[in-house]
Amino acid sequence: GNEATTSIVWFRKGLRIHDNPALSEALIDAKNFGGGDESKKVLPLFILDPWFCNEKSVGANRMNFLLQSLTNLNENLGSLLSIENVNDANNCLTVVQGKPKDVLPNVIKKFNVSSVYFEKEQVEPFGKQRDEEIIEMCKKLNVDVNTYASHTLYDQEFLLSKASAKGIPPSTMGAFQKVLANVGEPPSPVPEPPKNSLRVIPNAGDALSKEFKYANGIPTLEDLGYKAKSLSFKGGKGGETEGLRRMRGALCRGGDGYKYVQEFDKPQSSPCQLFAKEKGSGKALNPFEMAKKASSSSSPKEESLLWPSTTALSPHLKFGTVSVRQFYFELQDILKNELKGKHTNPPTSLMGQILWREFYYVNACGTPNYDKMVGNRICKQIKWKHDPENLAKWENAQTGFPWIDAAMTQLKEEGWMHHLARHAVACFLTRGDLFISWEEGARVFDRDLVDADWALNNGNWMWLSASSFFYQYFRVYGPHSFAKKYDKEGAYVKHFLPVLKDMPSKYVYEPWTAPLEVQKKAGCIVGVDYPKPMVDHAIASKQCMAWMNEAYAAGKEKKSGGEEKSNKKAK
Ligand code: FAD
Repeated sequence: GNEATTSIVWFRKGLRIHDNPALSEALIDAKNFGGGDESKKVLPLFILDPWFCNEKSVGANRMNFLLQSLTNLNENLGSLLSIENVNDANNCLTVVQGKPKDVLPNVIKKFNVSSVYFEKEQVEPFGKQRDEEIIEMCKKLNVDVNTYASHTLYDQEFLLSKASAKGIPPSTMGAFQKVLANVGEPPSPVPEPPKNSLRVIPNAGDALSKEFKYANGIPTLEDLGYKAKSLSFKGGKGGETEGLRRMRGALCRGGDGYKYVQEFDKPQSSPCQLFAKEKGSGKALNPFEMAKKASSSSSPKEESLLWPSTTALSPHLKFGTVSVRQFYFELQDILKNELKGKHTNPPTSLMGQILWREFYYVNACGTPNYDKMVGNRICKQIKWKHDPENLAKWENAQTGFPWIDAAMTQLKEEGWMHHLARHAVACFLTRGDLFISWEEGARVFDRDLVDADWALNNGNWMWLSASSFFYQYFRVYGPHSFAKKYDKEGAYVKHFLPVLKDMPSKYVYEPWTAPLEVQKKAGCIVGVDYPKPMVDHAIASKQCMAWMNEAYAAGKEKKSGGEEKSNKKAK
């Protein structure tokens, strides 16, 4: 006969019910098993691993976003519940704290689990090893494991196999686009599971609450020991409902015949634009109406989304509260059917941004020691300086360069920065001024960014430090001049560094050049109220270039030959 068994859907990233192959397959299989009342139960599970569940590893902004995403996942799973489970709507997702290798065997035995479904981790060493151990453990317990590649457009192993016979990833966007032209479109999103398709175990959390913390409900930041001072990510709440609303809002942003998508050109977008309400919306298809049309089940509140100059979808793509495939196909539909091919193109268009994400993923997948310099085949070996004091000044927004310090303050407070602000602070820390290793910068970003993503963060840091992908190390951003081009008045700087709010705009990027009288009047004496610049940029950048030159020459000698094709086109 059919022994009543259970399937686990183990959520890690991919915190959504749309385009979630692991969830959809688990529900289909559960239905096939026995059928009708005999069908399998499904236990949606999230494990808060102490490895990342602490303020040192994951900043409060990101943890908050994760907890909001779990809350929303619980609600959205509730919309799939079978009729017999009406009373379990608040308890669809079981969240426990512990190490997966302790939690899973326990859950498997307790609920007579016969199969486990999850999204494959394809790049991060920690996650890959964790998954291998769990798969091994399941084998021993005679439990089926079903995994799916759904965090990226393509299965990364597949993409790598198509990139070259030896599995070497493409090192330029041009080469990557050629690979993509050969492999064709990514797989389409899977249909959302139907209503009435999820049969859960009532109060599953109760049975686990003796051994594991938080089994009843979703913990708060406080529960997790966070001091939670800075919770001001301006890009909206975590969770797929908000994520899809934001995605669709971005696709028709401004409500102006898809003009935003049509003209999206990354290098032209301002790094100094604060999160603000969209101007000029309210026409036929404003983001709010579009979002309302899109999600019939939930009605978003009457509030407009806040936007920087780009989409700020990155936290949703990081946690998989928005499926990148869903984003790709909805964007593709607009480009083809609404704009009929008349729009900006990769690599600087919005589609180009999706491709950059994939580009870094395939490189992360095919490069051992991708997050380090040593032992990393694609990374220049450079003798960076060990300088904890200067690193701390950079990290704590005390460099004395207002543009750099404002950007680092935005990172601390909001957990997000525009791409070009990331460029500026990364260049400053590494090859531009301080000559400190990109690994140190990546660590800070990895903790504080809401969108911190292993493949994207390390890859972009290698790019900016001219350690890989990009080799024009002599092109340095001026820490006092770069932002002027976008924000002459220095509104961005004044917003994040209120100490400079009364400094005349003429001096706001270089307050040390203001006459003492002006500094006094502005209530900001440089060296007292705000630091003096920590380096003389002209001297420091020249010195850095000389060191970079040495490192490149030494590398060339070692390799002898081997022309580098660099990614000259800016992103
Ligand atoms: P949009 O311009 O609206 O782009 C849409 C999406 O495309 C993004 O959400 C992102 O998923 C993807 N994308 C855009 N730019 C890039 C890029 N350069 N590389 C890869 N994917 C991209 N992005 C992260 O998501 N996580 C990180 O940890 C991260 N670390 C970075 C570190 C440095 C030093 C630099 C220079 C960039 C880093 N980026 C990272 C890439 C980029 O800055 C952000 O993805 C982007 O600014 C997020 O804003 P958005 O969603 O508005 O981007």
